[in-house]
This record gives sequence, C-alpha cells and structure tokens, in this order.
Amino acid sequence: MTDLARPKRPNIVLMLTDDHAAHAISAYGSVVNHTPRIDELASQGRIFSHCYCTNSLCSPSRASILTGTYSHVNGVTTLSTPIDASQPTFISQLKEAGYKTAILGKWHMGEGANYNPQNFDYWAVLRSQGEYFDPLFITEDGEQIVPGYATDIITDKAFEWVESLEADEPWCVLIHHKAPHRSWEPDEKHQGMYSDPIPVPTTFDDDYSTRTSAARHATMRIADSLTIEDLKELPPEDLDYEGRALWKYQRYMEDYLACVASVDDNVGRVMDWLRERGEFENTLTIYTSDQGFFLGEHGWFDKRFMYEESIRMPLVVSYPAQISPGPPVDQMVTNVDFAQTILECAGVPAHPRMQGISFWPQLTHSPDAPTRDGVYYRYYENDDQSHHAFAHYGIRTERYKLIYFYADGLGIAGTSGLSYAPEWELYDRALDPDEVNNVYLNPQYRQVREELKRQLWDLQAELGDTPHPSQPEPVL
Ligand code: CA
Repeated sequence: MTDLARPKRPNIVLMLTDDHAAHAISAYGSVVNHTPRIDELASQGRIFSHCYCTNSLCSPSRASILTGTYSHVNGVTTLSTPIDASQPTFISQLKEAGYKTAILGKWHMGEGANYNPQNFDYWAVLRSQGEYFDPLFITEDGEQIVPGYATDIITDKAFEWVESLEADEPWCVLIHHKAPHRSWEPDEKHQGMYSDPIPVPTTFDDDYSTRTSAARHATMRIADSLTIEDLKELPPEDLDYEGRALWKYQRYMEDYLACVASVDDNVGRVMDWLRERGEFENTLTIYTSDQGFFLGEHGWFDKRFMYEESIRMPLVVSYPAQISPGPPVDQMVTNVDFAQTILECAGVPAHPRMQGISFWPQLTHSPDAPTRDGVYYRYYENDDQSHHAFAHYGIRTERYKLIYFYADGLGIAGTSGLSYAPEWELYDRALDPDEVNNVYLNPQYRQVREELKRQLWDLQAELGDTPHPSQPEPVL
C-alpha cells in the first residue's frame, strides 16, 4: 500500500574522487582548468565554499564521511589503520530504513573480513589504491579484472547496479573514483589537453621563512620529490634548478588535470543518465573529494598539512526537487557532517554516535543559520617514510588558523634521524589568505593566540579527543 501523503524518498548518488582540489574546478574559480559538467551540477544546486576535511588523508577522510565521526572515534587515523567496517555508517542507517545500497570503486580502508565494506547490498571495490587501467575489483564473489579506464568503468558499474533494482526501491550508490590520485595516469583521449603553460601559483617559491620546521622537513616539493613514475619522463638536462622545478610543475599538472577531465566527463554521464531515467529532480547528487591537494602552492604537491589548499574539499550538492540553486554556501562544514546531512535529507534518523552537524537546513529552509565556530583538524601520521610531514592538530575559525605540530615522540629521532620540539603556527587569514606569514610569536596576536588555544582545548574535549601530553593546558 502506498502512502500518498509521504513524499517520495530521494535516491542518493555520492561521487567521491581522490585528491581533487576545489581550486581545480571552474565553479570554484579555477585558473588552471575548466570543468563544464561539475559546473553544470553546481548550477543546478549549491556549492560550499568552506568545506573541510578533519584529517587530510585518503583513508581517514573516507572513514569520517561514512561514519560521521572524527578519526579518534572511527579509528582510521592513518593509511595503515583499517576500518572496523561493522561500525554504524550512514549506509547502515539507510539500509535499515529500506534503502538499497552499493559502493563501486575506491574503498581503501583495509581488506579482509573485518575491513571489507559492510551493509552494502552490493560492492565492487578496487584493491588498495587500485589501477587506472584495467582495474582489478574485489567483490563478495571474488576478484575481477575489467579492461578499460577506471573512471569510466566505476561509473558503468554504478549504472549497471542501479538498473538491476526493482523500480520502487529507493537507492544510494557511492561512486568512488581513484582519480585524480597519484600517479596521475590520464585516459588516452585526455592526453595532451593541457599542453599550454599552466599558470604557476604565487606561492610556488615559498621559502617557509616564518614557518616552523615542519614545512622544511616535509618531502612534498615539486622541485625535489616527484618521482620518475609521477613525471613519466626526465626533465631536460639543460635546465637549472628553477627551470626544472617549473618543468616538473607543468608535467605534473598536465596529467593531474587530464585525470580531472575524465572525472568531469563522468559527472556529466551521471547527470545525463539520471535525466534519461527521469530521476535527476528527485536525486540527491553530491560531488566531493576526500581532501584538497597542493597544486604547486608553497612549492608542493600532496596534502596532509592543515594549510588551506590541503584541507579544503570541493562540495557540490544538487537535489532540484528540494534545493533551489543559489550562491555558494559560506558557512564552515566538514566531512564529518556529510552522514547526518544525507540522512536528514532522506528522512532517516542519524546514529547517536555520529558527531557532525547536518547542513541540510542551510540547503533548504535556513540558508543563514550558523554552523560551527571552529573546525577541528588532526593529522596523525608522523614523519612517514614518503612525505615526512609531522603530526599536528589545530583549529580553523572564520578568521584564524592555529596549528600545533606536536612532534609525536618528543625528543625521539624521526625517520630522518633528527629530533624536533613541538612548535606552533598561527595565521591571520583576513590579512594573509595564502598563509605565508606565521604570526604565532608576534606580540600583537598574543591575546588571539591564547584565546584560540583555549577554543581548541575545549573543542577537543567536546569531541572526545585528547591533547598531546606535550601541550600545557591553556592559561585562559
Ligand atoms: Ca585522497
């Protein structure tokens, strides 16, 4: 028996890419590429200008999105801490409420009985990071190699699964791409798209002069740390150091942006397919990525650091039946908020363990409602073998960013053989949006600094995290 008074529950498509920075989307003002299909989705709904991940790394961000919790609660703090997949997620809540659910593509939160996807009616996921070409999928029925390009195949698989369902069942499909993750291998049809010189960011030559040792210690410099596998060819020998750095930037960006072009095509395919099915209006369609990425800012590639380019996520949300197009949503939201937002949209209760704040009101009936005063961030990997970024935590408010590099294992040499003491950084984003001028020791910021330390301390307590033992309790 149907209940005519009850609105039809939305179908849900979550497209999650890997390492796609918001500043490589033209709807976000990109100066390096054009993404017509993501822009089209944005024009049908809303984009978020201040969406942040709470731990800028693939596995942790995925776990936060799925569970609606911070890393210290879901346990996925690093790339080597697999998820206990039995924990509550927005998927388990949807499934309990009668949704059909599936995930296709990148999982990357562990493999094996305890770590494989749970509460999905169907899953076919890449092994670990997965392959760009002829990817191998793991399913409940075993492994399968599918010839072709991963971004297209993952989309195809989502279509196939939805088309296999009974027409009256609401469904939720997670389309999780590998792209545009390292090692940036474009589809043949997108190679050569970006042969013109790509604009170089103004902070490309950042010398880290006001920063703590963390930035200097990290090995994420385009000039020094990209490998032959990343670049696919060696730079011309007649170039000097700076010339080689710029050559590598161009080479890196050509492939990165070509991988994004395939993602953009596939966002378009999803919209076209939904329209053909007559379901675009009644589908919550989300485009996002697990974190941001440095595209030459501060001389870097990669993510990890709490600096803006790394933690800012693209977030585009469309649901024409319920969400009117409008200007960018300006309030601060995080990846921890996605689960409760999706559930509220679907009219399904959140799990009490979830720690986010639904931003459904901001998309519908309360566009100006405040969200949160400060975003809590924590990066747990410390001085890892490949990137050598130090563990840190901090808070981002509307104006400021306070970061504590706590140098886990204080006084103990990291993998480099050096040891570091804890260090703080403070950025006044109103005056320094590029975050190049650390004002932590500037006496004019003493009051601000101490207030932020208190805010961070209280936020940690509120979220159930524990300050590092090296941090004294704030004086305020
Ligand atoms: Ca990622």
